[in-house]
Amino acid sequence: MPAPLTAVVTGSTSGIGLGVATAFAENKMNVMLNGFGDADEIEKIRAGLEETYGISVLYNGADMTKPEEIRTMMREAESAFGPVDVLVNNAGIQHVSKIEEFPEEKFDAIIAINMVSAFHTTKAVIGGMKERGFGRIINIASAHGLVASPFKSAYVAAKHGVVGMTKTVALEGAEFGVTANAICPGYVKTPLVEKQIPDTARERGITEEEVVKDVMLGPQPTKKFVDVAEIGALAVFLCSEGANSITGAALQVDGGWVAH
Ligand code: NAD
Repeated sequence: MPAPLTAVVTGSTSGIGLGVATAFAENKMNVMLNGFGDADEIEKIRAGLEETYGISVLYNGADMTKPEEIRTMMREAESAFGPVDVLVNNAGIQHVSKIEEFPEEKFDAIIAINMVSAFHTTKAVIGGMKERGFGRIINIASAHGLVASPFKSAYVAAKHGVVGMTKTVALEGAEFGVTANAICPGYVKTPLVEKQIPDTARERGITEEEVVKDVMLGPQPTKKFVDVAEIGALAVFLCSEGANSITGAALQVDGGWVAH
């Protein structure tokens, strides 16, 4: 296993991606951050991780709907750090609406950001990983990669697609020391989830409190949101030698949601 490891984490200016990038930094990995947001805030995050953990952190604002920007970001990571050992496909958006009212451009954007971008990032690095005999591809899918909910047609389609693509990448990388796994979180209290509370309340005709209690935490037997640090800890483990034989898996971190 190379040391220090170099990782690219898409959508890491917020939420789960930032949690994974922070866990990697704590474990002395160099990280390329990506995602949208206020430039000063992002620079604060980047410089803060470098200073706190003594590793190198870069930022590239590639838009995950734009394949050329994705390729440029992956090249920039390699020219700054050397080979990319770990790729985390995490960038994602959500839209909650019944199918007959679902805006077509939202559907396309969710498929592009939540699913197709993982093809472009993976295509850019998997050849090098196979040549070097080591690589870790971690796709942040969702419990919605395994089961559906109403009003999330694009998201459920994209996440099921990601789980399927993960299996193919795992098969192609298996003999070359390259693993690919999907992490399938239940509800994690991030901006993506906060934003869908009012929309879900409207679609279901219930209050926002009922959305949290019944729609989000109802199916999670622990009755608790998943913590971003728990996703980060699993991602770190998947990068270790202890996880050499874990590949093609859809790993639930969902407080038991998919168990029933
Ligand atoms: P978030 O809104 O906090 O973060 C999303 C990140 O993606 C941000 O950094 C944002 O800037 C970035 N992003 C959005 N569009 C982008 C684009 N076009 N190009 C580049 N970056 C872009 O959301 P989160 O909850 O942390 O979600 C992260 C991932 O985890 C998503 O794939 C989401 O589907 C998945 N997930 C979240 C939950 C949850 O409950 N929060 C559960 C399961 C899976």
